[in-house]
Amino acid sequence: MYAVETEQLTRYYGQNKAIIDLSMSILDGEIFGFIGPNGAGKTTTIRLLLGLIKPNSGVAKIFGKELPPAGGKLYRRVGYLPAEVNCYPEMTGRDFLEYAAGFYNMNGFQWVEELVDRLSFDPDKKFHSYSHGNRKKLGIIQALMHKPLLLILDEPGSGLEPLIRQELFKILEEINQRGTTIFFSTHSLEEVEQICHRAALVKQGSMIHIGPVDELPGRGIRIVTLKAAGPQPSNVAMDRLGEAEEIPSRPGYYRIVSRLPVNELISSLTRIELEYLRITDPSLEELFFDLNNHSVSGGATYHV
Ligand code: ATP
Repeated sequence: MYAVETEQLTRYYGQNKAIIDLSMSILDGEIFGFIGPNGAGKTTTIRLLLGLIKPNSGVAKIFGKELPPAGGKLYRRVGYLPAEVNCYPEMTGRDFLEYAAGFYNMNGFQWVEELVDRLSFDPDKKFHSYSHGNRKKLGIIQALMHKPLLLILDEPGSGLEPLIRQELFKILEEINQRGTTIFFSTHSLEEVEQICHRAALVKQGSMIHIGPVDELPGRGIRIVTLKAAGPQPSNVAMDRLGEAEEIPSRPGYYRIVSRLPVNELISSLTRIELEYLRITDPSLEELFFDLNNHSVSGGATYHV
């Protein structure tokens, strides 16, 4: 059974194509990441999935039912975090949560209190006084409060401080283990790698990759930042690691895009006496840059 399905979903704003022929299926029980840069069409897709806007062509289904027109009872099984959380300015967070609870058959507020506590949210302030991050926390609690079967979250991690973001991802994993399917959009590869089973990469309204997180393009790339302890390493030693360039703002530090398998990378690094070393996965920008310019892992070429 698919929790979410789209078939050749297409949506224009005037002449501007926001989403083109987007087809994907999210299995019941999955955590699915929807990743892409600004303007890729993530919010548009989410709004189509919820039936908030209509497609120009194609189909969006939730639990096998087409949206719109199906909605009604279906929405009680879905939790939704919009990109921008909004509410009457004079309402407190608690007022808003009690108001939202009226839409659902909820057995008490214990789970809400737990979320409030774990996300360090103060529910007794007025909405207009909440920062962007606190509005996001309020939206997250509202999306999770009725223990939905499907959670659709538009950039849940953005705007949250790192410790709260970690706690949120822990909560998401816990509720997934209890049976909730989660679909969330993000700019962050790290978030996808942290908790997703599968992910889709979108750019300019088109899907450029969908699959298990382990098979995301760019997984074979590592960004190495290093500073040698002794004399500057030879060009040969640096070339062995990958494409190296000195970081202009940090003399003596090099940034290297390496495609070496991990063991080879480590053994090549041991030949250099190092003062500083940092190895990270590529950022989304680096990944898209790489997709534009190279064949990536496994030799597949992606046209973006
Ligand atoms: P971000 O990461 O910046 O939130 P996104 O991936 O969510 O971006 P969308 O907001 O879905 O992308 O936008 C997709 C495209 O549709 C963009 O080119 C955007 O400018 C355009 N767009 C979105 N909403 C509207 C609108 N209401 N009217 C006109 N164009 C829009």
